[in-house]
Amino acid sequence: MINGTMKPSILLVEDEAALVTLLTYNLEKAGFDVRAAMDGDEGLTMIAERLPDLVVLDWMLPEVSGIEICRQIRRNKVTARLPVIMLTARGEEADRLRGLETGADDYITKPFSPKELIARIRAVLRRSRPATSADELSFADVRLDLAAHRVTRNGREVHLGPTEFRLLRHFLENPGRVFSRERILDAVWGEDAYVEPRTVDVHIRRLRKALNDSGGADLIRTVRAAGYALDRPSGQMATE
Ligand code: CA
Repeated sequence: MINGTMKPSILLVEDEAALVTLLTYNLEKAGFDVRAAMDGDEGLTMIAERLPDLVVLDWMLPEVSGIEICRQIRRNKVTARLPVIMLTARGEEADRLRGLETGADDYITKPFSPKELIARIRAVLRRSRPATSADELSFADVRLDLAAHRVTRNGREVHLGPTEFRLLRHFLENPGRVFSRERILDAVWGEDAYVEPRTVDVHIRRLRKALNDSGGADLIRTVRAAGYALDRPSGQMATE
C-alpha cells in the first residue's frame, strides 16, 4: 500500500491475549503487518525499534494507561504524528472525549467487530498520509526507505540501530543544514528526553562508522563549536 508492495504495519497494544489473537488473525488476513505489545512500555519500545504506520492502543492497560502512552507518543517529535486508534470500554463517553483530546486520531468502543476496526484503520491511514510524504529519502549514494526501515549506501545495506536510523532520517530531511547538539537532541530524542548533548556525539560516531564502512566518503560534517550536518565532502558551508 505504501510503495506498492509494502504492507501497512500496525502495532497492537492490548493486554487481553484473546483479543490480540483475534485481531492479529483478522488484520493479517486483511493485508496488514501486525506486531503486538502486552503493555504500554513494551509498546513504546517496539515503536522506537520500528515505527509502525498506525497504533491500536487499548485504554485499559496494566501499569501505564493507554492515555498516558498516547500522550508520550504525541510528546516525542519522532512519533508526534503517528496515527493512534484508541480502544475504550462501553459507555465511557468522558473517557472517549479525553482520549481524543489527548491526541488519538479515532476511538472505537468495545465490543467491536474486527471488520469495524479494519474500516477505521483504513480511514485513519488514508487521512494521515500526507500527499507530500516521501517513502524514500536520499542524499548522494545513501538511500533510506521509510516503509521498509532500510538504509543502503551505493546499493549495499547499512545496518543501523534505531537511534542512528532516526538521526540519519533527520539529516536526510534537512540536507546541508548545520544542527547543534541541542537541536539534534530535540529532533531525534524529543524535547522531554533526559539525554546529555555528548550522547549525540556517540551516536553520530556510530552513524558515521556504519555509513563509511563500505569505504565511501564521509558525508557527515562536524562543524566546530556548532554541531553537525549531512554534506558532500567538498560541499559549501551551509548554515541554518
Ligand atoms: Ca485491556
